[in-house]
Amino acid sequence: MALMITDECINCDVCEPECPNQAISMAHEHYVIDPARCTECVGHFEQPQCVQLCPVNCIPVDPAHIEDRETLWRKYRRLQAASVTPARG
Ligand code: SF4
Ligand code: SF4
Repeated sequence: MALMITDECINCDVCEPECPNQAISMAHEHYVIDPARCTECVGHFEQPQCVQLCPVNCIPVDPAHIEDRETLWRKYRRLQAASVTPARG
């Protein structure tokens, strides 16, 4: 499942640099999560890092993006492949 940030976010800036997938960014009023990049930290950590760190507990599962673990793994692998520069020669 991708996670989402609610409008209870206090813009404390803690979660954004800790996301291993660069899924978190500042939007108009508060931080948001790109569901195309959030793997719920599958592939990187046992627990979602943003949830662990958020001081106001405002990062629930996004009901619009329910995904099983296998789907999250595939997303992780896709993101990894896209971030690797093809070898030359
Ligand atoms: Fe990033 Fe992990 Fe939070 Fe998803 S759960 S936004 S991948 S830190
Ligand atoms: Fe907002 Fe929580 Fe992220 Fe802080 S850690 S910016 S309160 S979502």
